Amino acid sequence: MTREHLIKPLLTAHYPTIAYGKGVFLYDSEGKSYLDASSGAVTAGIGHGVQEIIDAMLAQAQKVSFVYRSQFTSEPAEQLAKRLSDLAPGHDYWSFFVNSGSEATETAMKIAIQYWQEQGVRGKTKVISRRMSYHGITLGALSMSGHVARRRRFIPLLEELPLVAPPYCYRCPFHLEASSCGMACADDLETVIKRIGAEHIAAFIAEPIIGAAGGAVVPPDGYYQQIKAICERHGILMIADEVMTGIARTGAMFGMEHWGVEPDLIALGKGLSAGYTPIAATLAKDHVMEPILAGSKIVMSGHTFSANPQSAAVSLAVLDYIEGRQLAKAAEEKGRCLLQALERVAEGCPIIGDVRGKGLLLGLELVADRAAKTPFAPAVGLTQRLVERAMAKGLLIYPAAGGVEGAGDAVIIAPPLVITNEEIDLLASRLEEAVHEVMEEVM
Ligand code: PLP
Repeated sequence: MTREHLIKPLLTAHYPTIAYGKGVFLYDSEGKSYLDASSGAVTAGIGHGVQEIIDAMLAQAQKVSFVYRSQFTSEPAEQLAKRLSDLAPGHDYWSFFVNSGSEATETAMKIAIQYWQEQGVRGKTKVISRRMSYHGITLGALSMSGHVARRRRFIPLLEELPLVAPPYCYRCPFHLEASSCGMACADDLETVIKRIGAEHIAAFIAEPIIGAAGGAVVPPDGYYQQIKAICERHGILMIADEVMTGIARTGAMFGMEHWGVEPDLIALGKGLSAGYTPIAATLAKDHVMEPILAGSKIVMSGHTFSANPQSAAVSLAVLDYIEGRQLAKAAEEKGRCLLQALERVAEGCPIIGDVRGKGLLLGLELVADRAAKTPFAPAVGLTQRLVERAMAKGLLIYPAAGGVEGAGDAVIIAPPLVITNEEIDLLASRLEEAVHEVMEEVM
């Protein structure tokens, strides 16, 4: 056997080679088809092989594919920044383009720290996040992430940043009932700010809906309004990590729209190009940029490929496609159908403890005992078993276990926003079969 050269996620595993994709399906080199019910890593929001995007890509490539941002700007990058400002909650944002969600959250962290420095405040350098969170894999982004499994190996290299309780009603960190909890999870932010001292804290970062570290965990209504008020009261910037929730995924262009909150900074990635090319963005409100404009005039970050015209042109075409076809609205409608289909699957599958999410960002939490919400022992590897079973049946779902100690196994179901009702039925039936097979194995 010839030796391998490509480092794959699990070095010893076999990964099918994908030959092409069309709509919500991917096809491997042996002709097997996969219903992409996770949009890859919640990325391929408009599905695969969309001709309009391919045309836009080609058109830009025929003009210019690369310019260096320290030498030139480009029309696609300028237009994309304007378009995002018009779309974002409350408008009036500047955009800094990067290549991955991790770079976007890390840049948001740096801009938040710089915002204070430019005003002569040098002690505000910490960013608070939540225990159940994932903000990226680079060291700065991982420092802000609570995700236990992804941090563990690198703890000596990470900044020790404060973590607060997540708004995880299924397993309330305070063992309270949602109807009478007084939103103790939001108040936890204030408790931690008071303990550490606001003079040390630059920002608070949160995913509007918790993704990889929890499996589409939606906070109770009123949570983000309370969080924003706490941030304002203590002079702390609010960063919304919309890398997974952004660009129509949850039934609104930005996740924070559901709660009417305007973050000071926003990180975007994944759906911004729907996976057609790597691009991500950090958005900063006018008032965040003001001290930088009045001060050093330089945002101290950037990458060779930042503001790449090819990627920006693709993003613009993706936004045209999403807005032209009203895919935010479609995500809301299809999301409702899919949620109902998943609830029907759950009726006959007692290991599904919770069905949750918003729009087409949905999740299932898997438990050994539904009434007692007992998680499976980690050694069972329940999430991975289900992901593999589903894949064998031609269904792609996204694992979201290992994010936080004590939480159960979870998967994310987040198909492209163009999914049809027939495809939702197919998704549900393949999922049901996979869950039944896993139940037979483990019960
Ligand atoms: N933030 C969130 C909420 C994410 O879900 C992810 C990736 O899953 C990231 C940041 C990191 O993005 P990337 O993998 O593009 O670096």
